[in-house]
Amino acid sequence: MRHLTILIIAGLVVAAPIVGLADSVETDTGYDPYDVYAEYPDDLTPRDEIGYRKGERLEIKVVRIGWADVEVKTAEGFRAMRDAAAADGVLLWIYSGFRSHERQKLLYEAWREGWGNKAARPGHSNHQSGRALDIYLGDPGIREWLEKNAKKFGFKRTVPGEPWHWEYTKPPKKKAKKPKAKRARAKG
Ligand SMILES: [Zn+2]
Repeated sequence: MRHLTILIIAGLVVAAPIVGLADSVETDTGYDPYDVYAEYPDDLTPRDEIGYRKGERLEIKVVRIGWADVEVKTAEGFRAMRDAAAADGVLLWIYSGFRSHERQKLLYEAWREGWGNKAARPGHSNHQSGRALDIYLGDPGIREWLEKNAKKFGFKRTVPGEPWHWEYTKPPKKKAKKPKAKRARAKG
């Protein structure tokens, strides 16, 4: 019996990294999101940063969510989304948000030299606008929750093949249906 237990444990230890491979390497950070939030509470004091969008330099404001820097409006959207997810028992954690130009350069060079993940040209990563978030998908249900609900909070998947990469676009406007309202007024 004891041997069996040891075998099962040994099996799990060996199997864990193999199972992990089925997920993206990028999502397998080895951190427990619950610990990270306890250790890195949000800091909502806006700070000035230089961002980029489509090669154009922008002045942006970022706040800190967990350990990631995130553009302010994006952070608002994310916090609302995170609350809704938490109410459904799903914890959302950003492991990569805003990237500085320097950081993007390093990532790009690493990729070009053949030892880093694929990275966009400096100035052209949507992470440089502060509006792109890589969200941890390592626990069951997170990906499904996002696919079902993220658009209500203004988040869209924008990179095919990267289910963890979500970008903030303005939340959808409430359908005001102007023509109808006018007609109703005319009637009344
Ligand atoms: Zn990303």
